[in-house]
Amino acid sequence: AKNSGRDAFQFFQPGMNAEMHERRRIEDQLRMAMENHELSVAYQPKVDTLTGELIGAEALLRWNNPLLGEVPPLKFIPIAEDCGLIIPIGEWVIETVVDTLKLWREQGLDMPRIAINLSPRQLRDQAFSQRVQSILNTAGLRPDSLEFEITEGVFLQEVEHSQSSLYRLRESGVGLAIDDFGTGFSSLSYLKKLPVSSVKIDKTFVDGLSVDPVDEDIVSAIVAMAHSMHLTVVAEGVETQEQYDFLRKVHCDAAQGWLTGVPMSQADLSDWLRQRER
Ligand code: C2E
Ligand code: CA
Ligand code: CA
Ligand code: CA
Repeated sequence: AKNSGRDAFQFFQPGMNAEMHERRRIEDQLRMAMENHELSVAYQPKVDTLTGELIGAEALLRWNNPLLGEVPPLKFIPIAEDCGLIIPIGEWVIETVVDTLKLWREQGLDMPRIAINLSPRQLRDQAFSQRVQSILNTAGLRPDSLEFEITEGVFLQEVEHSQSSLYRLRESGVGLAIDDFGTGFSSLSYLKKLPVSSVKIDKTFVDGLSVDPVDEDIVSAIVAMAHSMHLTVVAEGVETQEQYDFLRKVHCDAAQGWLTGVPMSQADLSDWLRQRER
């Protein structure tokens, strides 16, 4: 017979219980991660496909915990979103990136801009754009030295605050990119209405370049369409020379991936920048 007691539920859902237990463990550890200095930011170069010049970098969050080891973002970010921790963590990422930009500028290293991934929840905060602007002001950085990468889902949400945050950010001069483009419900017509400055073609399409003609057609079409709207196009997850050559051929503006540079610590990217400038 069914027993509605808590123990009975756990007994009949062993898989669920293990998963909940792991989530809980991650959440508990994550609560202390910032003050214990377990978080860091890795930077991955974005390169102009025509000239090979550096056009910027993407900031990617890293978490190294003594108990859990190196936890991949795809594992802990959804949990941080659910429990609200993404707000303080996301703000820490922005501040860290701005500090890095300042440092590199003081060292005379040329980093045109850094892109930061945003969770929908961060945009729901009405004061978000204001806080970004004040962080930039305090650091004495131009708004166009920052860009935010947002998945298209954010634009589909009927959350007014998010939309107005985006418009205010864009008006202030901060760059906005649509991330993972092509994987969601992207409709070409609504790209026109959004306050974005660039489009990132998802890795799943890049993987098919020089392998699957359908992916090649999709990538060429995205590039042509984005250019007709005066948007910059970046391809993510570029691993091979063949993919890179195809992207250059169809005038995709920039490439990001293991071929042109893996995500690096701040110190390693400093060295990388110095070596290129020689
Ligand atoms: P994303 O925004 O699509 O980032 C690209 C992911 O592809 C990164 O994974 C990057 O390390 C990886 N990557 C780059 N080049 C290559 C390549 O050539 N081949 C392959 N196989 N992979 C490549 P990562 O760092 O594990 O990040 C995963 C996701 O976590 C990101 O996907 C992003 O959605 C999210 N994320 C990372 N940092 C943050 C953050 O600070 N805030 C938020 N909200 N999300 C973040
Ligand atoms: Ca991204
Ligand atoms: Ca992606
Ligand atoms: Ca993504």
